Amino acid sequence: MRPTYLEVNLAQLKQNVEAIRAHVAPAKVMPMVKANAYGHGIDGVAPFIEPFVDYLGVALVEEGIHLRQLGIKKPILVAGGILIEQLPLFLEHDLTLTASSPELLAAADEMAESTRKQLKVHLKIDTGMERVGVRDYEAESFLLKSFACRHLSLEGIYTHLANSETPDRKYSVMQLERFQEVLRIYEKNSVPVPIRHVCNSGGILNLPEAHFDMVRPGVLFYGVYPGREALRSVNVKPALTWRSRVAYSKVTLPGRPVSYGSLWQAESPARIVTIPCGYADGYFRRMTNQAQVIVKGKKYPQVGRICMDQFMVNLGADHAEVGDEAILLGEGVTVEDLAAWAGTNEYEVMTNISARVPRVFL
Ligand SMILES: *Cc1c(COP(=O)(O)O)cnc(C)c1O
Repeated sequence: MRPTYLEVNLAQLKQNVEAIRAHVAPAKVMPMVKANAYGHGIDGVAPFIEPFVDYLGVALVEEGIHLRQLGIKKPILVAGGILIEQLPLFLEHDLTLTASSPELLAAADEMAESTRKQLKVHLKIDTGMERVGVRDYEAESFLLKSFACRHLSLEGIYTHLANSETPDRKYSVMQLERFQEVLRIYEKNSVPVPIRHVCNSGGILNLPEAHFDMVRPGVLFYGVYPGREALRSVNVKPALTWRSRVAYSKVTLPGRPVSYGSLWQAESPARIVTIPCGYADGYFRRMTNQAQVIVKGKKYPQVGRICMDQFMVNLGADHAEVGDEAILLGEGVTVEDLAAWAGTNEYEVMTNISARVPRVFL
């Protein structure tokens, strides 16, 4: 196997689910496993975690189909926007549809009727994200239409928070009030309220009054907090260790700059080691001369332009040989560190660790 790989601590993911469940009980838990389980590797994560969750969430219908092909039996919600021509796939693979417009709802009802199959649907209300969903101020006719659908199983209704990770709860509370207003339409029409869900990771941490019947943890399930300011009201820990090994070791002299663009050179003879991992693996090029790497248990600066498949680390006067251990993430280097060096958020760091990096599940 490639010396550069991602170690995934599945037992930690289970502990994270349990910590989240204890915090939101009696609400159900639907971890979001879109984007290759936030980079962790869907093929290992989904079958392992299935027994400990109520639902699994993905963004794309293709991701839902992949879960079924892995043998997942639990319900799967496809949360992202879809095209009407993708509707048959929901029936074929028993996926739960997010009905985000009256047109989609009507098409789904028609198709369910013609195929005489059960189609599970969650209505999506847009309370302040302006992405997909029927706006709260247009929801009444949408819900009335849904009550008239004869061939759908209207299992849920949900919305998505736009600012849940910030300590200022004002925007979230406003979204919540809009959602509550929509829920009153059920009462008014004496229709039983379906499964209600609102909270992403930020909401789980910051908005206990919004846990409702189910929560949708993404980043928190993977043990990472949604930003530095997020309240740490649930204790979770990350599950990733990104490992590699020294592929080349030499002493570089002053006047002999390292890598493309000659952006860095030693001021005195320095031990420079090459790590066989680069931006094609998701080790962002924009971390050049910013990142730190653990080699043989000690942190050292990354130097010279990060290449597609390799990058260099400056050990100074220390020594390392070909084959020695390097750690790019974990054991003292956090996802937050990588995000700061790359000028992005934790989500982008994790979801960009590419398919070329083998996942090893512990
Ligand atoms: C991705 C996603 C989530 C999870 O968001 P986190 O901030 O990672 O917790 C929740 N709900 C929906 C609809 C999503 O698309």
